[in-house]
Amino acid sequence: MMELRGLEKSYGGKPAIKDLSLDIHKNEYLTLLGPSGSGKSTLLRLIAGLEQPDRGGVFLDNAALLNMPAHMRNLGFVQQKYALFPHMAVFDNVAFGLRYRHLNPLDDEAEIRTKVMDMLELVGLSDLEMRKVGQLSGGQKQRVSVARTLVCEPKICLLDEPLGALDANLRERMAIELRRIRAALGVTFLHVTGNETEALAMGDRVVVLDNGCIRQVDIPEKIFTKP
Ligand code: ADP
Ligand code: ADP
Repeated sequence: MMELRGLEKSYGGKPAIKDLSLDIHKNEYLTLLGPSGSGKSTLLRLIAGLEQPDRGGVFLDNAALLNMPAHMRNLGFVQQKYALFPHMAVFDNVAFGLRYRHLNPLDDEAEIRTKVMDMLELVGLSDLEMRKVGQLSGGQKQRVSVARTLVCEPKICLLDEPLGALDANLRERMAIELRRIRAALGVTFLHVTGNETEALAMGDRVVVLDNGCIRQVDIPEKIFTKP
């Protein structure tokens, strides 16, 4: 479905991503595991179109995405910092992307409402639709962030350390929720993490990134990890 071909990216002559190729399958949950500085965030930004590679390309259903702006790529990107609007209600945060896309919001408000409420139910926030985001817990904010991305129905959802800001308990619940959402919506997920347990527990396949190179891609059972 998505193909990364020979991607390269350097900063000031120092390579962050080196000749990286990868096939991402439709509807899979792919985890991308690597230590800090291995190039995980750079790779997500290249896929999202927030940066251009020095070489290589990103292809979606065989079409090159080079020069296609981020918002045209049909990708969702849940970034590390939630980037939500704290003074706006949960509902309006989730609706924001939809409203922004629809050029004629008055025609579409009923449709927007249906989509947003369905999504809030999926992430377990139906009761909090009117609550200001600034008053939510970290885990709730994280769920708003995921809902806001998924409501736009991306083909692929990029998640940058989506569990990073959560405590152990919330982390586990959010992990289960993400898997459930994947099953319900059939979205392809690319989930970046520095946490080996998380990568192995959540991925259908795990990509191990080291120093800008892919070291291994396999199902979790076959990923070699240090004893
Ligand atoms: P990770 O997400 O795995 O921590 P990054 O993709 O953030 O890794 O970084 C990979 C390498 O590229 C690091 O050496 C980092 O310092 C460098 N790097 C990333 N972004 C930039 C940037 N905007 N400018 C300069 N160097 C960068
Ligand atoms: P992470 O390690 O979680 O990937 P970072 O804190 O390394 O995140 O990076 C956060 C931001 O800083 C990114 O936008 C990245 O491009 C930028 N960045 C990372 N390393 C460098 C660097 N060496 N020089 C300039 N910008 C960098």
